Amino acid sequence: MEVGFICLGIQDGENDKIISSLEDKKKINKIFSECRRAAKEDKCFFCGNNVSSFCNSHSLPSFCLKNISVNGEVYFANKMVGSTRMDEQGGVKKAGTFQLICRNCDSKEFQDYENPDNYKNTVQPKMLAQIAIKNCLRMIAKRKNENQLYKKNLQTSLLGKNFNVDQREYIDLDLTDYIKSYEKAKRLRNKNWNGEYYLFFYHKLNYVVPLAFQGLVSLIVDIDGNTVNDIYNKSPDYHIQDLHICVLPLKNETVIMMFVDSMDKRYRPFYKSFLKLPIDEKLSLVNYIIFLYSEDVFLSKAIPQEILVNKKLKEVMQQSQVAVVQEVDTDIIQHEAEKVFSLQQHRSIPNLLDERYKLTL
Ligand SMILES: [Zn+2]
Repeated sequence: MEVGFICLGIQDGENDKIISSLEDKKKINKIFSECRRAAKEDKCFFCGNNVSSFCNSHSLPSFCLKNISVNGEVYFANKMVGSTRMDEQGGVKKAGTFQLICRNCDSKEFQDYENPDNYKNTVQPKMLAQIAIKNCLRMIAKRKNENQLYKKNLQTSLLGKNFNVDQREYIDLDLTDYIKSYEKAKRLRNKNWNGEYYLFFYHKLNYVVPLAFQGLVSLIVDIDGNTVNDIYNKSPDYHIQDLHICVLPLKNETVIMMFVDSMDKRYRPFYKSFLKLPIDEKLSLVNYIIFLYSEDVFLSKAIPQEILVNKKLKEVMQQSQVAVVQEVDTDIIQHEAEKVFSLQQHRSIPNLLDERYKLTL
């Protein structure tokens, strides 16, 4: 059986058929904005109060974007991915926003981790909980939008058969898991309890890197090829475990962190192997995981042209986890995904966390 994975963007291959078969870009943009509107609720997800307008929450603290911006602007991942429906660059205020909570909650609940002065030494446990809340909210907002998109697509089939019903089951399972993680983080946000999250990597670089990232990923396979998440498992008893990653550019330094929920034991072999590696290998892996798994990365506009046209980097960023198959055998798909998402080739893309790419703005 042939298994392929949808690549994002419109440059080459399968995608062309998906996006370019739509004669009218406006049509698709309209669908996306209708879905965003339909996904919006009238209550703040955090405090439950009725709200008339939601906050444009950022997926990462705005000071990080400011520190890498040029004339107030940054590149979005789409600069490399090249999808027609998203912007390639934009102002710091617009970057990476989602709408799920009210202004009051957004300004009150994340103060500790959104303060650059709190990264002088290591971070407090409550800051990790706040980061986890933000990461979960971002994913919940995303999945809610996608849900609307699939509903809409069932009516119109505009996006083609690859955006199928099957995918929707995963969205619902994902949503349940993210909401559970979110609720735990919310309970911990003011507690400052040790041991709830395991911060296995906290590293400060004495230079500013040209990228900013905060988010969660669900590793499919670890450094040694062990399965971490069987992401196509449909059993409600199987839970996806998340890895939280931050690359936070400060004024003259960069903080890089990785942590997991301490109950998520499937990450143990991963961090055990990771911690044994020399620092340049560690940085290269963090860099690769971000580009392979997430589209929420922001790049400085001062980044060298050679990076923007790097073919391998583009390829890695276009990789998605949506499988295209004739027959659905989830074991086979997982097996193929473990090959595609192998971390072995982490050296094949430029490591933007390396000192050679440091920003001198
Ligand atoms: Zn609220």
